[in-house]
Amino acid sequence: MTEQKHYGFTTTVLHSDRQKPVEHGSLHKPIHTAVAFGYKDARELADVFQGKKPGYRYGRQGNPTVSALEDKITRMEDGTATLCFATGMAAIGAIVQGLLRTSDHVVSSSFLFGNTNSLWQTVGQQGMEVSFVDATDVANVERALQPNTRLVFVETIANPRTQVSDLERIGALCRERGILYVVDNTMTSPYLFRPKSVGASLVVNALTKSIGGHGNALGGSLTDTGLFDWTRYPNIADNYRRFPPAVWGMAQLRAKGLRDFGAALGPEAAHHLSVGSETMALRIERESASALALARMLSEDPRVARVHYPGLPSHPQHEIAASLFRAFGGLFSFELADGIDCFDYLNRLQIAVPASNLGDTRTLVIPVAHTIFYEMGRERRASMGIAESLIRVSVGIEDTADLLEDFRQALG
Ligand SMILES: *Cc1c(COP(=O)(O)O)cnc(C)c1O
Repeated sequence: MTEQKHYGFTTTVLHSDRQKPVEHGSLHKPIHTAVAFGYKDARELADVFQGKKPGYRYGRQGNPTVSALEDKITRMEDGTATLCFATGMAAIGAIVQGLLRTSDHVVSSSFLFGNTNSLWQTVGQQGMEVSFVDATDVANVERALQPNTRLVFVETIANPRTQVSDLERIGALCRERGILYVVDNTMTSPYLFRPKSVGASLVVNALTKSIGGHGNALGGSLTDTGLFDWTRYPNIADNYRRFPPAVWGMAQLRAKGLRDFGAALGPEAAHHLSVGSETMALRIERESASALALARMLSEDPRVARVHYPGLPSHPQHEIAASLFRAFGGLFSFELADGIDCFDYLNRLQIAVPASNLGDTRTLVIPVAHTIFYEMGRERRASMGIAESLIRVSVGIEDTADLLEDFRQALG
């Protein structure tokens, strides 16, 4: 398989490892558990440390099995380079540690994964300034920009209310102002959407979710799309400016974010995630089809007050989602009509499992306000549009008819 050809998504993922020599012709990149790497002499070791020769130094900074996964994600996102981390949160934390200073300002969507929201609150207490805006309209982002704004952070589809960011116009704004544009692509995955197409600078993926897909390994990644001009970024230390500008960001993120904070992805987890990614497109096709069927069925039932899913024409950002995404994904949320207790409903489900992961092969459900968004309190929940009865559904790959029947029978 030659690199130049434009193969489809799954073909590219399946044959990614073979773009470089794989030990013994193994069709899976082997799991390399070594922490240290020896060279033929001390001078070669020094050359590897100084970046004059390719090679691995120490397991915290890089590992062959993890590198193979990084290459795979780079291809999925059509980027220039990827760094993997122990979790999705570690990847986002690396942006804070690696790229931000106390005098900086960040503009973030207010519709966020709960722990990312908590992280930005912490960052705000540590001296940086964070503005939360409704990112479904670029005007709110533009109004929040300051001379010291270093980055804009958004999610593609927000979890659990499924708001879709004004992705294209925020991209154009960031490009015009020379601001780093960070897009968390977890809810769409690189199969449904490539943030590079709207001008993203860095792409976050929680590999734990759709890319791994089986709920059996944690992981996160950052991909440089190659679109950002790092010479416009003031926080790059001289040490990394000796490289070509295109790699400044990733060089500093690898050293300051990954190496110094130490949240390295383990080789066993990298292997699980890599194997999982081979079937991602097939899984997401099924999940998206089932989610649409479930969202339609529930939205037509009088016992359901509201359904949030970008695939429904009633969704406020349906048009944007339809124009940017290949399908609408496997996540939706809904509110039951008054008088139906969300715990009673969840307890009547026979197939869907109450659990907090998403992007799993199994359908998972969770009462949002009482679990993942409990810590932030009622007021902040209300500001994020989270109803106290909201149920989030991460649709798995079970047979669609079984899921429809399960969600229907639980209503009555
Ligand atoms: C889960 C998730 C994360 C964090 O990933 P972990 O691997 O659980 O740390 C970040 N962003 C989004 C949108 C997520 O859904």
